[in-house]
Amino acid sequence: MEKIGRKRDYTMIFNTKELVMTSEQERLFRKKARAATGKYFWAAVLFVLVFQIYNIGYVLYYTEFRLGTESSRIYMTLYVIMLAGCAAASALGLLWTFSKKDRDWALLILYAAFCCLLLFWSACVTLYDHRVSDNISVYMTSAIYVAGLIYMRPKVSVPVFLICEAGLLAGLLQMDLNGIKDTYGSCVNSVGLTIVAAFISLYRWSSMRRDFLNHLEIEEKNRMITEQSEKLSYMANHDALTGLWNRNYLNEWKENFFKSGKEGQVSVFITDIDYFKQYNDAFGHVKGDECLKKIADALQEIGGIVFRFGGEEFLCIELNKTADQVDSAAERICRYIEAQQIESAVPGRYLSVSVGYSSGVMQNDTEFRMLLHEADKALYEAKRNGRNQAVRFEQETGD
Ligand code: GH3
Ligand code: MG
Ligand code: MG
Repeated sequence: MEKIGRKRDYTMIFNTKELVMTSEQERLFRKKARAATGKYFWAAVLFVLVFQIYNIGYVLYYTEFRLGTESSRIYMTLYVIMLAGCAAASALGLLWTFSKKDRDWALLILYAAFCCLLLFWSACVTLYDHRVSDNISVYMTSAIYVAGLIYMRPKVSVPVFLICEAGLLAGLLQMDLNGIKDTYGSCVNSVGLTIVAAFISLYRWSSMRRDFLNHLEIEEKNRMITEQSEKLSYMANHDALTGLWNRNYLNEWKENFFKSGKEGQVSVFITDIDYFKQYNDAFGHVKGDECLKKIADALQEIGGIVFRFGGEEFLCIELNKTADQVDSAAERICRYIEAQQIESAVPGRYLSVSVGYSSGVMQNDTEFRMLLHEADKALYEAKRNGRNQAVRFEQETGD
């Protein structure tokens, strides 16, 4: 029997296949990675810069500005190199941050390059410090900072951590072999530290990429859901053939109208195509559908809120029109449709419509139904009088 359940995800954190991005995704990701890493880069540059100024001042003060000993000159060289590195990184960083061009890739390389320099420098200082002490704290601080906070690709971070560790280890072993001092403890500590730092760096790299891809996937799903719901809401309120509002929307519109408490004259026009059955019989239903679409487009051009009311019947609603305006609007419907010169089944005549209309105040559903009923009666009258005409509901019409 087939096992039902969630498939377990055994994906390793460094499974690079699932982290592959298109070039556009890479571009967006670079922007995000740059923004996420930038603040730590600047913090590191500032801290290291201030630290070097302090160190240089201290060495100068300690040697009374003479740099008389070899160790003071070596330390001074190391501090000046790092100070120059900070200055160069700041200059390039500022230039590229405020450049109008897309410099995200260049900034990411700059961050990585500065971190490499920091690590190499820390390894050198740690090694030189070992003549007098056993601690690897400078290297440890830099390695953990870089690994945990700076985005670096594995093909950069892994070699950098390995090369730094190899250099540090070679120096420490050399000291041990030359009998300068026992560095076994520092060797073990630095190897452990490098493994942890490389792991943290790889984890940061893969988790940032995965988070970004997950975020894109969620965004895409949200976009699809919005698109679907917009489509559904369109389908719920529109007639599929003509694109006009449908009866469902008529109910919604009417409820909203009542809720809004609007007052004033409401005019309803029911437009019915003349001899449309004959049209279908003569030209076929496909042509009939096309004809309905043409009439719907024409009615929309005329104005008002237009609904497909039934098969070949349309409802148009106009608000706050005077009696004269209503009469001419109804007449205009007939003339406008006739002017479309749509072929009809009646020889010698273009396709025409008949319009029945009525006006009045409308504050509830009963009054709305009444208006529709009156317009329907007027439409019947228009048909009876020979079609292709508009008839206003008059009390005597309905009698
Ligand atoms: P009158 O002038 O009295 O209105 O005559 P009529 O033939 O237009 O009236 P009737 O109500 O007898 O016929 C309406 C026709 O409209 C019948 C039906 O085949 C057609 N019709 C309704 N809906 C559609 C549609 O979606 N597509 C097409 N092609 N025809 C439709
Ligand atoms: Mg009809
Ligand atoms: Mg008809």
